[in-house]
Amino acid sequence: MRFLITAGPTREPIDPVRYISNRSSGKMGYAIAQAALDAGHAVTLISGPVQIAPPRNAEVIRVLTSDEMFEAVHRRADACDVCVMCAAVADYKPAAVSPTKIKKRRGAFSLDLLPTRDILHSLGHRADRRFLLVGFAAETDQLRQNALQKLREKNCDIVVANDARLALESDENELLILLRQGRTKKIPRAPKKILARELIKIFEKIATKMFDKKKCADY
Ligand code: C5P
Repeated sequence: MRFLITAGPTREPIDPVRYISNRSSGKMGYAIAQAALDAGHAVTLISGPVQIAPPRNAEVIRVLTSDEMFEAVHRRADACDVCVMCAAVADYKPAAVSPTKIKKRRGAFSLDLLPTRDILHSLGHRADRRFLLVGFAAETDQLRQNALQKLREKNCDIVVANDARLALESDENELLILLRQGRTKKIPRAPKKILARELIKIFEKIATKMFDKKKCADY
């Protein structure tokens, strides 16, 4: 199968020296890319700025902003069978990017922010979608409820939910996997590399059923 995987954070520039970003390390997405390669799949990895080496044999596309990631994903989505949106895309970006460094002033400072385009949502609502679509949910509270809401609103086939406090920058994670039709599966705390292997097995199984024109609910 052909996998398209996003990983890492995005950077939303404020001026030439500052940006808005988050603590995503990219480790989970990179581990999923490696596990997919190890299982014999072709992988395109669209990565935000991270400090880890990309897996060998993956096609790696580096991006910085959410807009760059949006364009890169949409250019390649139709050529894939499984699309795993693991990146921690910034939710907001500055309304305008200053071409020169914003000078420090006395007193409070505020920045106008606009919502970024939701890549997962845009893929989920494409009428012609043929690939299996997997989203991630990093939450600090009401994990199941928030993940279920994302599954429905973004119209994906699977949402992999995790506790952001445990997952961020860590080599370990614990996962709650939600499938369409409400089925769930828990994978207890383990190294991200081990979890990634389990995820790939689940994605393969559901994608195969989907391509056989069976429903995910059969899984
Ligand atoms: O809504 P939230 O950001 O929590 O959703 C997380 C999921 O949505 C992840 O799969 C992430 O990659 C995706 N996402 C996206 N584009 C955005 C924001 C989130 O694809 N602008």
